[in-house]
Amino acid sequence: MSKPSPSSYNKWLDCNRAWKYAYIDRKVSTNLSFELKYGLRFHSLKEGAEPDVDLGVKWNKIIEEHEFAHRQYWSAHSKLKVIDTEVEIDDWFRGYIDAVVVDDRGDRWLLEYKTTGSQLDVGSSYWSYHRLQTAMYASAFDCRGVIVDVSRRPTIRQRKNESDIAYIQRCSDWFYDNRDTVFARKTYHDDPELVLECKHIDEQIAAAKSKNQFPRNSKACYKGRNQCEYYDVCWNGESLDNEQLFQIKTGRK
Ligand code: SF4
Repeated sequence: MSKPSPSSYNKWLDCNRAWKYAYIDRKVSTNLSFELKYGLRFHSLKEGAEPDVDLGVKWNKIIEEHEFAHRQYWSAHSKLKVIDTEVEIDDWFRGYIDAVVVDDRGDRWLLEYKTTGSQLDVGSSYWSYHRLQTAMYASAFDCRGVIVDVSRRPTIRQRKNESDIAYIQRCSDWFYDNRDTVFARKTYHDDPELVLECKHIDEQIAAAKSKNQFPRNSKACYKGRNQCEYYDVCWNGESLDNEQLFQIKTGRK
């Protein structure tokens, strides 16, 4: 049996039925959301890899501006030294961490990059989304903890009649003008209670499999404006075998 991953636990907590489509039927949408594509392209640039996700000239350029502003900001505000990137963790779960870094006291941390449309103030509920994943990583790696490095996508819209060049410039300015609320980091540490939660999820999954029962969670069908990728299968009789809509899940997580 394949090992669990932070994504599989998060999917289970979101919706048992969606988990079944993704991890038993092994199907994912052929259509990635804009938010996911934005994050993937940003990650590629951070890792110095050739981006394999294309959002078109305008957004590709805005993401370049974003990554540049991010680099400038943290080089002025932090002394973390990257010692490894794209590290696989193969322990009681499988996962990948974006980087291993050392702080100015010589302590080792894991670093994970995220992009979001959410507010990043201290009380934002956004930060709680990463508790489970970071507790898993911290439990399996000899480190002080995990630093989640988040930056916001531009929240300004292109004006009517505004050229792409002018909009790109305005986004570039937006990153700088709002840098103290666009870029944020939070540290997380090992948390045995959260690791226990994973064991509890394992038991739930085993019980669901034995009964072949994976209930829907109708409250999880929409996240903001985004509809669940399985909505039409789940509610409208569409087939997971429709190759125009779904492909075999091959992702690393
Ligand atoms: S459409 Fe809703 S109930 Fe169905 S799999 Fe997605 S989140 Fe779950």
